[in-house]
Amino acid sequence: MIAWWRTLPKKGWGQPLEEYGGTGWTAVQHYIFKEELHMYPVPAPLAFGVSMVGPVIYTFGEDAQKKYYLPRIANVDDWWCQGFSEPDSGSDLASMKMRAERKGDKYIVNGQKTWKTLAQYADMIFCFCRTDLIARKQTGISFILGDMKTKGVPVRPIQIIDGGYKVNEVFFDDVEVPVQNLVGEENKGWDYAKFLLGNERTGIARVGVSKERIRRIREVTTKFKSCGRPLLKDPAFSQKLAACEIELKALELTELRVVADEGKHGDGKPNPASSVLKIKGFEIQQATTELLMELIGPFAAPFDGQFTFFK
Ligand SMILES: Cc1cc2nc3c(=O)[nH]c(=O)nc-3n(C[C@H](O)[C@H](O)[C@H](O)COP(=O)(O)OP(=O)(O)OC[C@H]3O[C@@H](n4cnc5c(N)ncnc54)[C@H](O)[C@@H]3O)c2cc1C
Repeated sequence: MIAWWRTLPKKGWGQPLEEYGGTGWTAVQHYIFKEELHMYPVPAPLAFGVSMVGPVIYTFGEDAQKKYYLPRIANVDDWWCQGFSEPDSGSDLASMKMRAERKGDKYIVNGQKTWKTLAQYADMIFCFCRTDLIARKQTGISFILGDMKTKGVPVRPIQIIDGGYKVNEVFFDDVEVPVQNLVGEENKGWDYAKFLLGNERTGIARVGVSKERIRRIREVTTKFKSCGRPLLKDPAFSQKLAACEIELKALELTELRVVADEGKHGDGKPNPASSVLKIKGFEIQQATTELLMELIGPFAAPFDGQFTFFK
């Protein structure tokens, strides 16, 4: 994946900013590009870097932070992970407890984050930490960049339902972080979290992934037979496939509407319709996965050899 990602900046396709060698594409052009990557299919650039921490540093960071981090993000010199959720703070993100206590030119960070996607590969983590214990919960949070190789940051994998390891717990035990790793103003992290999550909502529906999956289903259905005829000719199966395709087309149009609207209101906030993109996108991905499983029947069953963790 890294080898592939590193070829993208050579064409200016690694990140959007023209001043850092990007194409200067509009949001719609970017959307089309990402959809092409998903359909090909090849991995889209690592969202934690290019789409999440990158825009926060670019918008709220110091010049020195921009100069150091942005080219590294574009070139995937650092693999980033996202440090929001904690064991007791998921939907109610503002209740997070991870503490960063300022001591001279350092923060001493203590606490636990969980569900960190691909943190087992990460070099860096962007974290929301509590820097003021007295303030209202949304106003005492700061956005801090942490080095995953620092002493006192163990990563523990969580096995997920498909038997794989994608998410992790990350622990911070008296971890020293230089104050230069604070992005923007101290205690203003909640504003940056909203900005970042707004960016996360667009481009998350993964329409290209579902399109590619439907293409694959159509290809395979012509080979698999049910009662002597291709599954595609089976009315029950083809009805379910058609329903998925209709939902996907509606989602694609909604996402294009949201993306085309980006930046038009000047308040930096995404179109509120963006809130449905993630849930609808994942529902369609689940439906297409179920169709694929139905299609390949017993071959879809996991076999014990995959689950090496417990051996
Ligand atoms: C595969 C995966 C990858 C993830 N990757 C990351 C990552 O990289 N970084 C990261 O920081 N986080 C990550 N997360 C965490 C994710 O953002 C949280 O799971 C999410 O915020 C929900 O929090 P929770 O799991 O604690 O559920 P909870 O907040 O405990 O919610 C449980 C249920 O209660 C409902 N609920 C909660 N509050 C209310 C309410 N007020 N009213 C009505 N219903 C409510 C929810 O809808 C949900 O159904 C990941 C999660 C998953 C599953």
